[in-house]
Order: sequence, then structure tokens, then C-alpha cells
Amino acid sequence: MTDVKRIAVIAGDGIGPEVVAEAIKVMKRTEELFNYKFEFEFGLFGGIAIDETGTPLPEATLDMCKRADSVLLGAVGGPKWDNNSKELRPETGLLGIRKALGLFSNIRPAVVFDCLKDASTLKPEVLEGTDLIVVRELTGGIYFGEKFRREGERGQEAVDTCVYNVEEVERIVRQGFEVAQKRRKKLASVDKANVLETSRLWRETVNRIAPEYPDVELEHVLVDNCAMQLLRRPASFDVIVTENMFGDILSDEAAMLTGSIGMLSSASLGEGSFGLYEPVHGSAPDIAGQGIANPIATILSVALMFRLTFGYEDAANAIEAAVKQVLDAGHRTGDIAVDRSQAIGTEQMGNLIVAALSEQVVSA
Ligand code: NAD
Repeated sequence: MTDVKRIAVIAGDGIGPEVVAEAIKVMKRTEELFNYKFEFEFGLFGGIAIDETGTPLPEATLDMCKRADSVLLGAVGGPKWDNNSKELRPETGLLGIRKALGLFSNIRPAVVFDCLKDASTLKPEVLEGTDLIVVRELTGGIYFGEKFRREGERGQEAVDTCVYNVEEVERIVRQGFEVAQKRRKKLASVDKANVLETSRLWRETVNRIAPEYPDVELEHVLVDNCAMQLLRRPASFDVIVTENMFGDILSDEAAMLTGSIGMLSSASLGEGSFGLYEPVHGSAPDIAGQGIANPIATILSVALMFRLTFGYEDAANAIEAAVKQVLDAGHRTGDIAVDRSQAIGTEQMGNLIVAALSEQVVSA
């Protein structure tokens, strides 16, 4: 009997519903092509949830996510809710949902499609073949340590503390190794072990568990060096695993290698295979409702879900190949078009990818 996967879908605000609709089309086509079975459940979250229920993250939505095998999220937020009090802001719901679902890592691929390498600020020959993932710890480190002000000898001082325990390090590092095992089996562990005690614990932990993953080639890279190497030799990285603040900075740097925010997918993972998948971009209120948003980031988030949560490697590969095929054929939404007068809309891009997906599978 076919294994039924439950997918909680949260379209959200702005362009969220527009891009999610195209991702659902892709998932439905993969059901037919690969004989998979998905059960979709839809929930409210963000600004729309505030309007309809009075809270950005209704209990019903959280329950829906907890029952599911994975979550697909569009985007939340918009000017309508920008002046709300903190608890009535859509973005507050984002932190809430990650915490409630126990998500402790953020995974952000940066893939440079050959046909789009001119869109980046780096030289095309440097970018050639870039296909990497940053695995970032989400719940610890300096962002969550104790913070306070005090009077020092030379006036006011501010203190932020960076704390990691060995369990927190171990679970994220294991995730780094496991993601690497599903890819080209190369892991760069990024720290600042020459200066920081938390980084020394990090490195000790990585070295202790590395022998359990003998198929993965490990390198330790200091964070400042990693920032440089990402610009100098991005194609040599496969998976980068690092702590919260380093990951925040390096994943944004890596994102810029690719040129457009409309192409970037992401996942937040917890224990086991459960994950929340979403495009990196926000709700883009400036283009919402016009049918011109790029759905590729959300469609690539589905490929990531298939690979990391369901282990559907064949379908993930086919979706990625379909996106490449459509781009290689010259089709572009406005954000990635050189000549905007030739740009196609959200729905048209989704339809082309669905058609290419069928071709990919038939020709395989
Ligand atoms: P944004 O990512 O929404 O938009 C930045 C720029 O990129 C805009 O010009 C937009 O038109 C463009 N863009 C974004 N996605 C695109 C796509 N798929 N296709 C084509 N163009 C695209 O960031 P912002 O303007 O800073 O934020 C808008 C709202 O989204 C805010 O309320 C913010 O809080 C929220 N936000 C939500 C998330 C999330 O849901 N995870 C993430 C970031 C921002």
C-alpha cells in the first residue's frame, strides 16, 4: 500500500498564496508520476490569521502542523500589520511556530544555475558549479544568551553571552553529517576555535562524532576564512554546518551568490524527519496580487522536503531538473529577467515546471 504523507500547508500573506498554489500543482503532479500519496491540510497563519482569528498563530494551525509529516509555508507579514503590538505581529508567529515544533536547525541551499550566473555580482567562472547548503543552529548561541547592561569604570557597558551545551552542538552537527551523507559527502564545520570557548567545545564534539560518519570528508574552517572562501571558491563547498550567529551571516552571504531572492529555498528541521519548508523571501507586498511573483523558491522548497523529510530523492531530482530545464529554455519571471517585457507570470512559470517535470520523468 502507498504510504500517505501528511503535508500541512500554510499559504500566509502577500505573495504566499500565489507561490504556494504553484508548489501544490508540482506536488500533485509528482503524486501521479511517482505513485506517491499526499494528504494536504490547510491552515491560517500570519496577518490573515490575525484578521480572521485575532492571533497570528492559532492553536488549530499548530495542531495541524503537529499532526503532519511536514509543513509547507508561503510567507507572512505586510504593512497592514506592521504597527500592531508585538504579540499581534505576523513575524511573532514565526518564532512561535519554530519553537512549538521543536525546530533547531535551518537549512539553506545556495545553487547557482548556469543560465543565471550572470545575475550574480561575482564572476561567472568563480560561480561555476556552486551547489552548497548551510546548516545553521537556530536555538542557542549569543542570540539567546543572557543580555544586560551595567555601569562599568568607563560608563555604561553592554553584555551578550554566548552559551552552547554539548547536546545542542551534537544534534546540529549530526544533522550536518546526515545532510552531507545525502549529497556529495563533504562537510565544512565552521567555528572560531582559536578564540572562543564555545567554538572549542564545538570542534571537540565534531571530532568526537566524526568517526561515526566515515563516508563524509570533514574539514574545520574558521569563520573569517569561510567568509572569504565562499567568495573565492564557492563551488568547493558541499555542506557547511555552524552555530547560530555565524550561520545567520554565512547563509546570507551564500544566498547572494545566486543572484535572486525568488530562487532561494529553505528548511527548518527538528529531531527525526519532520521539517518546515519555506522560501527565503517574505510576502513581497509590493508585488502581491499581481500574479508576477517567482514561484521557484517555493517549488525548490518542495524538492528539499521530498529529499530531507520523505527520502524521495528521485522526485526531488526531477523537480530540480525541471526547474533547470525551464530556465535553460529562457523562461523568466520579472525578478530574474534581463528583458522584463518578456517576463512570464507566476502561474505560467508553475505550469511550465509541471510540464517539464512530466518530460523529465518520461525521459528518465
Ligand atoms: P521580501 O522578501 O518580501 O521582498 C524583498 C524584495 O524582493 C521585494 O522587492 C519583493 O518584490 C522581491 N521578492 C521577494 N520574493 C519575490 C519573489 N518570489 N518573486 C519576485 N520578487 C520577489 O522582503 P521585505 O519586503 O523586507 O518584507 C516584506 C514582508 O515580508 C514584511 O512584512 C516582512 O516582515 C515579511 N517577511 C516574512 C518572511 C517569512 O515569512 N519567513 C521572511 C522575510 C520577510
